[in-house]
Amino acid sequence: MSNEDWLGRSRAAVWHPCTQMKHLERMPPLAVARGEGAWLIDHDGRRYLDGISSWWVNLFGHANPRINAAIIDQLGRIEHVMLAGCTHAPVVELSERLARLSGLGHAFYGSDGASATEIALKMSFHFWRNRGRPHKTGYVSLQNGYHGETLGALSVTDVALFKDVYAPLLRHSHQVISPDWRLAEVEESAEAYAWRAIAQMQDFLAECADTTAAVIVEPLVQGAAGMAMYHPIYLTRLRELCDEYEVHLIADEIAVGFGRTGTLFACEQAGIRADFLCLSKGITGGYLPLSCVLTRDEIYAAFYADATARGFLHSHSYTGNPLACRAALAVLDIFESDQILARNRVKAARFNQLLAPLAAHPRVRHLRHLGMIWAFDVTDVDAGFSARFHQQALARGLFIRPIGNSVYFMPPYVIEEPEMRLMAEVALDLLQAL
Ligand SMILES: *Cc1c(COP(=O)(O)O)cnc(C)c1O
Repeated sequence: MSNEDWLGRSRAAVWHPCTQMKHLERMPPLAVARGEGAWLIDHDGRRYLDGISSWWVNLFGHANPRINAAIIDQLGRIEHVMLAGCTHAPVVELSERLARLSGLGHAFYGSDGASATEIALKMSFHFWRNRGRPHKTGYVSLQNGYHGETLGALSVTDVALFKDVYAPLLRHSHQVISPDWRLAEVEESAEAYAWRAIAQMQDFLAECADTTAAVIVEPLVQGAAGMAMYHPIYLTRLRELCDEYEVHLIADEIAVGFGRTGTLFACEQAGIRADFLCLSKGITGGYLPLSCVLTRDEIYAAFYADATARGFLHSHSYTGNPLACRAALAVLDIFESDQILARNRVKAARFNQLLAPLAAHPRVRHLRHLGMIWAFDVTDVDAGFSARFHQQALARGLFIRPIGNSVYFMPPYVIEEPEMRLMAEVALDLLQAL
């Protein structure tokens, strides 16, 4: 079967996510036959560098031998068993290790990022209810924030393209200005701007804390906003405000967790611990759908009682799937044995050097970098820029999908110098061509 055959059958049978299907007439998807490290390979054997880690999930490459081996070993033991009324070694071990690494515990599992958001929102509300404060039902989030697309998660998301159509179905939530440093005034530092942004959050909490259950934020980087980055002081101060006003802090580290920002979890850079930590995406190295919400002992204790209804009765069929948990354990093993965070620092420094010509390009604005995320905005673009950039990069062997006029790189951690060069060169070329 050729690429063309698979594309035709896919168009007829598969409804692709985040896609206007009619556009596939002009912009066919990539028919991937297999993967190898940082590369995707189509049915003609053409290779494409996975410059965005398959939507930010892949950490250690495709077909990683160690993760493969862990899953194969688990397959011979138990592939899945329900987690209500049963337990198993992979879920216990993973929960223990995540607790040690995050300083939070009581791991509650879901299947996707959006389900982790739902779990955190529900838990926060239910905690206040169990504590005799049922009026705390509201949520506050950041402008341009993204927390997933199921109805509850979409309610706290602020991306018009995904949200506006469904507005009649959504519960109202409040948004305050983003600390995204691109919004700073000329001469205003990222830190000064973060202080200005947090003032609006404080004003909101001062007025509405009585009816607010939680603040939800993407720590340090707002991914779907185009890799908007902000100063950690915002989170440090937000933690203080949440304590002062008795509102939970939900850290949505679905995209930024597992080393993306240079530390295992982004909150570490602000020296804070959230009340709820939402994890997914990189948790299984991009292998299997798994998400997890970790929380504090005090929150867990508010649910611990004789009355069934005081408990957190939420569930998904695949909660704590053993194969996914084994993949996650293999990922944590690789982090430790290969000293990934230290190695990534060296790689990032090298990629920064390779990006110097791009930084100097007159169409490049707000070149930004944190950990293993790079982004820049392109001036003088039209509505078709992102799609054309994607297509032309593909023709040059790079799979990358700009968000509006923001081009970003979020490569798997197995990236090496030749691949970094390819990303830097293709991006620079396309700035001349498009
Ligand atoms: C991707 C993402 C989600 C949603 O995760 P899904 O697995 O796509 O449902 C939520 N929050 C953030 C910050 C994300 O990047």
